[in-house]
Amino acid sequence: MDYSYLNRFYTKNRIERIQALLDADVLTADKKSQLELGMHLSKDAANNMIENQLATYELPYGAALNFLINGKDYVVPMAIEEPSVIAAASSAAKTIKQAGGFTATTTDRIMIGQVALKNPPHAAETLQLLTDKEAEIIQTANQAHPSIVKRGGGAVKLEVRHIKTDELENTPEFIVLHLHIKTLEAMGANIINTMMEGIIPYVEELTQSKALMGILSNYATECLATATCRIPVEHLQKGAFSGEEVRDRIIDAYQFAYVDPYRAVTHNKGIMNGIDGIIIASGNDWRAISAGIHAYASKSGQYRSLSQWKKAENGDLLGSLTLPLPIGTVGGSISFHPAAKMTKAILHYENAAELESIIVSVGLAQNLAAIKALVTEGIQKGHMGLQSRSLAISAGAKSEEIDWLSRKLKQAENMNLATAEKLLEEYRQ
Ligand code: NDP
Repeated sequence: MDYSYLNRFYTKNRIERIQALLDADVLTADKKSQLELGMHLSKDAANNMIENQLATYELPYGAALNFLINGKDYVVPMAIEEPSVIAAASSAAKTIKQAGGFTATTTDRIMIGQVALKNPPHAAETLQLLTDKEAEIIQTANQAHPSIVKRGGGAVKLEVRHIKTDELENTPEFIVLHLHIKTLEAMGANIINTMMEGIIPYVEELTQSKALMGILSNYATECLATATCRIPVEHLQKGAFSGEEVRDRIIDAYQFAYVDPYRAVTHNKGIMNGIDGIIIASGNDWRAISAGIHAYASKSGQYRSLSQWKKAENGDLLGSLTLPLPIGTVGGSISFHPAAKMTKAILHYENAAELESIIVSVGLAQNLAAIKALVTEGIQKGHMGLQSRSLAISAGAKSEEIDWLSRKLKQAENMNLATAEKLLEEYRQ
């Protein structure tokens, strides 16, 4: 990839940006034409994807730049409605690239399926019985979905948990089977659900009790991705703040989000800005991934910052982010949705683990951009500058009016819809 073609990407118009991606070898000629035309879901596909379909709902699809992850350059597509997210990600990724880039690692891609038994009469014996029959349960699960086993995946391990009564809510006891399943390139929701329903008759017969349900868990604690970065302070100076001050204030911001859930939710929302953007662009199930990530933020018993920022012995700023990321590169609509196919082509990822590495790095970049702005010039300066375009569109501005009105709004004392409408009316007169 030749990144020099992407210099000053944001100053180009849409067609020039697409041409730059071709020149930089990010896009093939065939994908370039598709991107120019827009990526429309066919009427047939849309009608068959959901129930009671009426129309499609569009989002802007853009590219964040400057991502250097494990020595490889990426242009990262995002589908998102919020201004400033792509600019922020690109800016922080540039700082991290200048400092050597992201290092990302992933664990094995193991997903969890659950079968729950309510109030088994002899909990301790049931627990032991199920544990003793691990091999048979794994075999029954694999027989329920043999194709994933043929591909080299399938159920590999059983854990049995005993959940005691919650005195406050007066809940029953549960014995819960956790089956660990390798779903390879798929997120695996349907694969796992088939397996879990497949083992229920065997488990019921074995334990002489009725199962409550069998389903995957979206809390994918065995499918983690971590991104780290190390930034020398000379890359952090901002306005009147020295690099050391910015580093220390970023660490303070992390510690604030570690101890205070009110701050942690907003801190993590900033991380999710980029993550949701790329997850939607890649055709993955963002509800599932978000639910798991927010549960992971509460793993200590309190909702906390997902990221960590520390000072290295030599004074560098060290950033780290670990997330459960059970995404897929096949399955669901990934293989046929035109935008998901485009994202695959632009990212040039080889497998799901590589896509996880990109997503977690995007989260870390987004977090750095947000907290660095917050602890220096504040977030509104950059954010509202970009927000002015959305405001202009909301006021009814068309084509060249948008540029004019957005410039005027940046100079206005109150940047709001009433001002935008008033300015537009004056312009048109
Ligand atoms: P699919 O049901 O589409 O299954 C993926 C299929 O991809 C497999 O069955 C497999 O076919 C095929 N495949 C091809 N190559 C590979 C490979 N290398 N590795 C793995 N599979 C391969 O998708 P998922 O099971 O991943 O389910 C995802 C969908 O489930 C999403 O749309 C999600 O929204 C939805 N969902 C989510 C739930 C949740 O999160 N709680 C609940 C229910 C559904 P073969 O069978 O031939 O092996």
